[in-house]
Amino acid sequence: MIKYELKCRACDHQFEGWFVDSAGYDAQAAAGEVLCPFCNSADTGKAIMAPNIARSRSSDDASSNGDVRAQVYEAMRALRAEIEANSDNVGKSFPEEARKIHYGETEERAIHGEATLDEAKELVDEGIDVMPLPFRTETDA
Ligand SMILES: [Zn+2]
Repeated sequence: MIKYELKCRACDHQFEGWFVDSAGYDAQAAAGEVLCPFCNSADTGKAIMAPNIARSRSSDDASSNGDVRAQVYEAMRALRAEIEANSDNVGKSFPEEARKIHYGETEERAIHGEATLDEAKELVDEGIDVMPLPFRTETDA
């Protein structure tokens, strides 16, 4: 058996699921059988794993572990709200826009959007600061 941290893309809730193995998860996910326990959406996926901070050392207190997770979740929501309120969503043209701003070809402003790992590496190589965000953002693209 294998345990996955899963995330609902419809309501943003994280939950845990047990599967026979990774292929078992893939099969159930492909069949639309991995449902969100909160809103019943099948639009779910594996969440990014976070280190189990509170459980890793002296404490195995499940409630304090839950507090840490809730705090991280809240901090991420706040960060997301802040970013979406204060920067332009340029969607898939993020690498292009980031370059234009870096080279002074357009007005300097905060932007967020999508880039592949390779695109992000290229930007960093060119000396352009990019920061990965721990969530998906809505995009028009
Ligand atoms: Zn849900």
